[in-house]
Parts: sequence; C-alpha cells; structure tokens
Amino acid sequence: MLILFDIDATLIKTSRAGLYAMAEGFEFLHNRPCSLEGIQYAGCLDPVIFGNVLAKNGVEVNPSNIEDFRNEYRKGLESRLEVPGTGYLLEGAKELVTILADLKEVTLGLLTGNYEDTGRLKLGRCGLDTTPFVINAFGDESPYHPPLRKHLVEVALTRYQNKFQNPISPERVVVIGDSPHDVSCAKDNGCRSLAVATGLHDTTTLHDCGADLAVESLANTDDLVRWMLNDPRSN
Ligand SMILES: [Mg+2]
Repeated sequence: MLILFDIDATLIKTSRAGLYAMAEGFEFLHNRPCSLEGIQYAGCLDPVIFGNVLAKNGVEVNPSNIEDFRNEYRKGLESRLEVPGTGYLLEGAKELVTILADLKEVTLGLLTGNYEDTGRLKLGRCGLDTTPFVINAFGDESPYHPPLRKHLVEVALTRYQNKFQNPISPERVVVIGDSPHDVSCAKDNGCRSLAVATGLHDTTTLHDCGADLAVESLANTDDLVRWMLNDPRSN
C-alpha cells in the first residue's frame, strides 16, 4: 500500500509565511509592490503559482525569472519559519506518519505542489522528519504541459515501480489532502482519496468532490489507519 500526503494544510500550516515570502521576494527583485489578488494556491503547483504571480505583475514568465523568484522565496521562507510558532504541525499529523511508517505493508510518500527544497524546509521547520517519505512527487515534476497535480500520481507510481521492481495498482494508493485538487488527483487516477478539512474546504465540500472519506482532522489516527488498511478489493 502506498500512502501519499499533501503538505500544506494537511500535515502543517505556516501562517501564510509562503505568501509573504513570495510577495516580499517579488518586491525585492522587481522593486515594486506585488499583487497576489486572485492567485489560487490551495492544491496548486508551485511552478504554476510562481508563473501566475509573475504574469499578473507584468514580468515575463521564463526559466530565469522563475529561478530568481524561487531563490528569493526560499530565503524569505527560511527566515520567516525561524520565528517560533509560524510553522506548526496539524493535529494527528506526526502520530499518523509515525504509526504508518512502522507498518511493513505501507510505503509513505509526499505528493505536493511544493518545490522539493521548500517543501522539505517547511516540514523540517515544523518538526516533521521527512525520512519516512520515500516515494515523492513534487510540484515541478509533472512531465506534461500544462502541468497538473493529477500528473504527480503517475510520477509517484512510476517511482514506486522502479524502487520495488513491482507495480502497485491505483486502488492500493491513498492520496491524503485538504483541497478538491487533492481529491480529484486521486480519483482521476483510480486512487482512494482521504480528505481532511483543515484547509479552506469543509468535509461536505470535500465529500461532494468525490473524497472516499472526509474528516475534520487527522486526530483519530487509529480510525484513519484502519480505514486506509482496509483493502477495498477484499470487500
Ligand atoms: Mg494542501
């Protein structure tokens, strides 16, 4: 079984440090205010968000401008997350990862819109060891254009097959996340979706989007583990 976790508003929250770091990074580079109005973040991919911010603010979207923007963002995020209390783990997150990491039949991974460096930085600063996550797909790893979150499931499944020399069927994959994008990327790939209402969306909305299970938080770890380990093919 492969269990893939989203990062923001699923495992951790960072008090909008990412948004501030983005706006401040832009302002440093381009010497003018940065508008983030109308930019979508939840469940979106960092390279798409960064490109949208540049475009909205009249800067050409090209690899060099994205790279400069990423570098300033990373510096800003690093210093903001140094302030105690800015980044924190959500209820049940560490416990759930710890329990699952100990189960032989479970492989853990991250499936996130974050770039790898800043995704790991966020988790580390929030006190979550990233070692248990061995099959990961990050925000800039879609092989397709335009890149979509749902492509990252294919990336993760391919990595699983390469690592274990054995394919995993999608119904043995659980995607955990807080946004409708997390739900649809699971369902579009035939995976199970566990949605958690610690982001912008409540359980009803997440359930209506197609989540197989929608919960208020990750606090009930035993129930969640039981649900995840229940192989639907045996029902
Ligand atoms: Mg999220």
